[in-house]
Amino acid sequence: MPEKTIFKKIIDREIPADILYEDDLCLAFRDVAPQAPTHILVIPKKEIVNLAALADHDEPLTGHLWTVIRKLADEQGLAKSGYRVVVNCGADGGQAVDHLHFHLLGGRQMGWPPG
Ligand code: 5GP
Repeated sequence: MPEKTIFKKIIDREIPADILYEDDLCLAFRDVAPQAPTHILVIPKKEIVNLAALADHDEPLTGHLWTVIRKLADEQGLAKSGYRVVVNCGADGGQAVDHLHFHLLGGRQMGWPPG
């Protein structure tokens, strides 16, 4: 068996996290090293390495993740002021954890271009 990622360990409750939302398909929790006043990670429970590893049949899952992200942003009071959703994919994308995740960032003005 391959080593579990840190996010799989959070899903399996082997390590703690500040969980804000959970359903059968996904989990949302605060990033341990927040890069903005609000920094939440939304992940599928299914072990998908990254965006590049998604299959066409995962489309309903990714649609669901976007719905959860939108509702979380609303609940966090970010809908009016705005926010950013980031998905780092692979080495050049700066991905550190090999389990697909969406960063929901808000509460400050974002810069462009990203680093
Ligand atoms: P990536 O660079 O892969 O897109 O983002 C990984 C994110 O996971 C980083 O923002 C990092 O701070 C966060 N992270 C890494 N380990 C943990 C952890 O144990 N708990 C939580 N809540 N976040 C983590």
